[in-house]
Amino acid sequence: MIVFKFGGASVKDGPSVQNVANIIKQSPATRLVIVLSAMDKMTNAFEALAMHHFKGNVEKSRRQFELIRNFHLDLMHPLFPNPSHEAYAAVDRLLNEVTTILAKPALSDFDQFYDQLIPYGELLSTQIVSQYLYKENINHRLIDARTIVATDDKWREARVDWDATQKNTNHHILPALTSGQRPIVLTQGFIGADAHGNSTTLGREGSDYTAAVLAYCLNAEKVVIWKDVPGLLNADPKMMANTVKINEISYGEAMELAYYGATIIHPKTIKPLENKKIPLLIKPFSDPAEAGSVISSNETKAQAVACYIYKFDQTLLSITPRDFSFINTENLSDIFLIFKKHNIKINMMQNSAISFSVCFDGNQDEFSGLLNSLQNNFRVLYNHHLQLITIRNHQQSDIEKVLGGRKILLEQRSRSTLQMLVSGQE
Ligand code: ASP
Ligand code: MG
Repeated sequence: MIVFKFGGASVKDGPSVQNVANIIKQSPATRLVIVLSAMDKMTNAFEALAMHHFKGNVEKSRRQFELIRNFHLDLMHPLFPNPSHEAYAAVDRLLNEVTTILAKPALSDFDQFYDQLIPYGELLSTQIVSQYLYKENINHRLIDARTIVATDDKWREARVDWDATQKNTNHHILPALTSGQRPIVLTQGFIGADAHGNSTTLGREGSDYTAAVLAYCLNAEKVVIWKDVPGLLNADPKMMANTVKINEISYGEAMELAYYGATIIHPKTIKPLENKKIPLLIKPFSDPAEAGSVISSNETKAQAVACYIYKFDQTLLSITPRDFSFINTENLSDIFLIFKKHNIKINMMQNSAISFSVCFDGNQDEFSGLLNSLQNNFRVLYNHHLQLITIRNHQQSDIEKVLGGRKILLEQRSRSTLQMLVSGQE
């Protein structure tokens, strides 16, 4: 049994949906679970809709809904030329549910409201693809991920309840995979439900994680994530010419890359797969015969390729105790508590005798709150719009290449990792 995951880029228009159907048709897998994301940038579009409605901006909300509706209908027209095809009624039912949510004022907790509305990106996507697969005589069962992926109610970042999810998988997915000629289950990535049946989401780009969760519960043979790139590259091709594809990499190294901000796979994806030694393949949907990249427990074949990870729009804070004390565990623990309270994740940190420097993602709503809390006991200096460059397996010659003459504001080095915080402009 194999788990396939298709992201938004793989279902961005009619021809892409046809391509997905071909990949499924031609796969040699005898039992298949398919995890699907919202189409193209529809999650962003739903986020904007949620925001407009939450702020009570009726006109903007109406226009945003129209945009979402038209996107899906335009995508469907070439797939279902018959205007009375059942697919249109199915999509209408989902859009009506969205309208019903929008007819009421938003819940007072934005994050909870978000989790009510945002799943419709995935629900629409799976409904359209399911209808198309039936049209192509690809037999399958569409199963609502909210009946499978059980979570807590930490809105927008729900944590999986593994025991409940395992039970749901055994009761609903396994039986669907044992009957019929070549059983296929189609479900949504990114979404789940709490114990009361409220929809939840697993964090942006969370569909990869769903694929890993299901693969774990089903003891799948492997997971294939279909992407718009040839595999795992050693840098973002938008940032660097001459990128190299990494053919094989260990779970540990993949986790490190994801941790430092490589965006190719959701960071939580690897661990469940590693625990059951389920290999993860990253393959190009434009060329399914290509080998892609393999992430597995095989350490020996792994190449030590230099990998470059860029994080943009970073803020650097330097924190100095007002009472002229040295940086010690006591004031550090105060500082960490303040960061935790404002929910700001630290990307890099370093201390000297009298100052503690912290780098984190800029442009966060909580920034001014953080600053206020710190300023009671500390003098704080800060710089915005910096770049954090991480190089794994670095060579000395790589450094000048990425710096381009820029000054390093903060640097950290271990045998395998070099991190440099530099000014934004080259
Ligand atoms: N549709 C969700 C997002 O765009 C989940 C995913 O694509 O993995 O974040
Ligand atoms: Mg995506």
